[in-house]
Amino acid sequence: MRLSLRKVVRLATFLVLLLILNVWISYNVNFYSFDDRGKVLQTWRREGDHGQTDEARLLKFERSVDDIDGSSGTRPIRSTKQVNADNERDSSARSQQFVNETGEKELVAPVKGSDLLLTTTSRRGGSNPKQGGTGPKSQKNLQIRVHKDSDKTELKDIFISVKTTSKYHGPRVKLLLKTWYLLAREQVYFFTDGNDTEIAEILGDHLINTNCSTDHSRRALSCKMAVEFDYYMASRKRWFCHVDDDVYLNVPRLVDMLQGYNHREDWYLGKPSLKHPLEVADRETPGMKLTFWFATGGAGFCISRSLALKMAPYAGGGRFMTTAETIRLPDDCTLGYIVEHLLKHKLTVVEEFHSHLEALWLIKPHQLDKQITLSFSEYSGKQNVINVQGFSETEDPTRFRSLHCFLFPNFRECRVLS
Ligand code: UDP
Ligand code: MN
Repeated sequence: MRLSLRKVVRLATFLVLLLILNVWISYNVNFYSFDDRGKVLQTWRREGDHGQTDEARLLKFERSVDDIDGSSGTRPIRSTKQVNADNERDSSARSQQFVNETGEKELVAPVKGSDLLLTTTSRRGGSNPKQGGTGPKSQKNLQIRVHKDSDKTELKDIFISVKTTSKYHGPRVKLLLKTWYLLAREQVYFFTDGNDTEIAEILGDHLINTNCSTDHSRRALSCKMAVEFDYYMASRKRWFCHVDDDVYLNVPRLVDMLQGYNHREDWYLGKPSLKHPLEVADRETPGMKLTFWFATGGAGFCISRSLALKMAPYAGGGRFMTTAETIRLPDDCTLGYIVEHLLKHKLTVVEEFHSHLEALWLIKPHQLDKQITLSFSEYSGKQNVINVQGFSETEDPTRFRSLHCFLFPNFRECRVLS
């Protein structure tokens, strides 16, 4: 067969076109097959690797990603070329950069199908070559951290203090230990005024003997609050939440509520028991009055770390008692005085906190699960308790056990009700 020059040229052109098509497919098909993890990789490479290729490190990284979502070894490892192809095509990285609490810049990218995050960190003014650093050394700072959305408050971020007294260990503390305490064992600390080996066996170092006096006096209550505040400061948690020992705390609702506030901002969350601000004589300006709102301790309240740090000069290191003495008011009023009067910051009212100074029986049963705190009391023979089905009044006069089973029916002691 004789080939004319024209046929040879046509064949060569066809082969060249075929080659171009092949190259095009190899890049574009890869791009469309990328999943979210590809985006994590390309983000990592762009931000942390400065476009260099390093197959070994990439493979290590890929395996770590697989380990995180438990699919190790089941997925073929993508080539470096594919990562670069994606890098060129998609500049819309879904990762974010922010500076974390230790002053490191964190690059955060979501991992497909989970709330795990991968982060790469680089110190501020570190080894970015553009900043005159040593370039590749920055890779030493690359690390993979697995954590929930780092800014979302979780139960572990909350310090919960319960004020109690020796005479209530039996009737009140034991009830709490059987109910809501079980949902927050690590977070709850009981502040009391005497030793109790039986309760200490359950609580260990979460039972604190403040050595404050055992009465209901203004001084005794402030003494306990002073200790609570110092323990909170030492805990370094995001939130300080206080309740009395006659309060049922709906732990998941508390966490939900706090997720709506930034602990790095100043927050004083609670509910006043009065319909008007408290008015007291201003000792610094005789004849003048000062007014402020306060969150009643019997309903519970929460204070953000940012605000607590500002309160420390008036409340930390035992100074809470001195401040309480200057205005001669109980502990919860003193807190309002520090926050609203001295720091000029307002109380934020959270309606879902309830003390027994409210008519608790008026809360509708279908609304109970939305409440953060509930309480009980008895005034001149009349019970002020919530209206909830469950155990009999003799078995459960405070209604706390019934409420606990209403909210969390899977607890063992609730099985008798179903
Ligand atoms: N309390 C205390 N010492 C006492 C009486 C009460 O520390 O002698 C605590 C009690 O444990 C509770 C808070 O103070 O956490 C409020 O007490 P109670 O509910 O008896 O009185 P309320 O002020 O609510 O009427
Ligand atoms: Mn009370």
